[in-house]
Amino acid sequence: MARAADQRLAKGDSGILVGIPLAYKDIFCIRNWRTTCGSRMLENFVAPYDAHVVEQLDTAGAVTLGKLNMDEFAMGSSNENSYFGPVKNPWDTTRVPGGSSGGSAAVVAARLAPAALGTDTGGSIRQPAAFCGLTGLKPTYGAVSRYGIVAYASSLDQAGPMAKSAEDCALILNSIAGFDQRDSTSVDRPREDYTIDLAKPLKGLRIGLPCEFFAEGMDADVRSAIELALAEYRKLGAVTVDVDLPNSALSLAAYYVIAPAEASSNLSRFDGVRYGFRAPDYSDLNDMYSKTRAQGFGAEVKRRILMGTYVLSHGYYDAYYLKAQKIRRLIANDFRAAFEHCDVIMGPTAPTVAFPLGDKNDDPVQMYLSDIYTISTNLAGLPAMSIPCGFGKHKMPVGLQIIGPWFSESRMLGVAHQYQQTTDWHTRMPEISV
Ligand code: GLN
Repeated sequence: MARAADQRLAKGDSGILVGIPLAYKDIFCIRNWRTTCGSRMLENFVAPYDAHVVEQLDTAGAVTLGKLNMDEFAMGSSNENSYFGPVKNPWDTTRVPGGSSGGSAAVVAARLAPAALGTDTGGSIRQPAAFCGLTGLKPTYGAVSRYGIVAYASSLDQAGPMAKSAEDCALILNSIAGFDQRDSTSVDRPREDYTIDLAKPLKGLRIGLPCEFFAEGMDADVRSAIELALAEYRKLGAVTVDVDLPNSALSLAAYYVIAPAEASSNLSRFDGVRYGFRAPDYSDLNDMYSKTRAQGFGAEVKRRILMGTYVLSHGYYDAYYLKAQKIRRLIANDFRAAFEHCDVIMGPTAPTVAFPLGDKNDDPVQMYLSDIYTISTNLAGLPAMSIPCGFGKHKMPVGLQIIGPWFSESRMLGVAHQYQQTTDWHTRMPEISV
């Protein structure tokens, strides 16, 4: 691929991504490459085709460096759920990089690749970007095709870039966004140039601050970094306004009904027949199914399948799944109302800095709480990003979250880029001893 890129460059091809090395979360299918999704179930699964995102970046001339570790089936917030072992945070290798796109975050933070691709179902691009001091963008639901991405929760999953700067994210988004008829939820709209608003001044920008994001729950070190970032935005000419997202307290509960429900359905295809792993010893067909799934999936994946199956069961569907779907609509309506008073919303990406490996492993609810600020945008389908805005306790990076209205990626990227012109948090890198 590098040789082909050199040839393109020699012929005068000025494509911006020609020859740029990129790496992929191991959830993206790459033809003739193993695509494990961090699971024993797919340990030896070789993808027969390329994901849409991969195809687009290949065409743009990017060079694939490799695949990156991740939480099994993208379920997790610390990258400790991978069958292949945990990922460590390059800023402090006793700490987690965040999840589920932890490998993508670690590789860019360690400057082993200039950018990587991740996916975000409930925060998996933004939270690891925050924990590792990167810029990460989750596009509007439907902006980037999900074709060839192993499905976790199909109504929430979106792929996006993780890089040093907003500008780099914009350049990658230019290649990966756009209509694809192979994904029925891909939105058919004209292609955009996401760099168009990068230079736009911030004078008069209205930043909404949801009181719910600034209530208790956020650590003091995170809060002070966020407040300094907001002060910088005011200096750049933005004004802040208070907004309300009254239903955001329900987002975690709604997400942990909807995501497991969809996951339990999506993961039913891993039955020992169609893909990947099959238990070596079994007595009959049912025994083969049970043993395959018992041995092929890790603990967190099984927990999600159990939750999902339960909330979809006869008699519980209305009480849980339907209710969660209604709450989802209320959450989207809250954002719609808030965006009548502001152009973007800002707040923390995560309530804490990266925590030590093993810290939250025995308490799934504590782990789920690390996505408290990111999940509502997935439920609403909104674009959102995390940008580095300083350091907190233990000299670990803090991420500022920027949320925009549907399909406002260009504006959001501009808002991030202007901040990155007057601050240098995004250029900081960990000291790495080899
Ligand atoms: N941590 C959340 C979960 O485990 C979100 C993961 C993601 O965005 N893929 O479901």
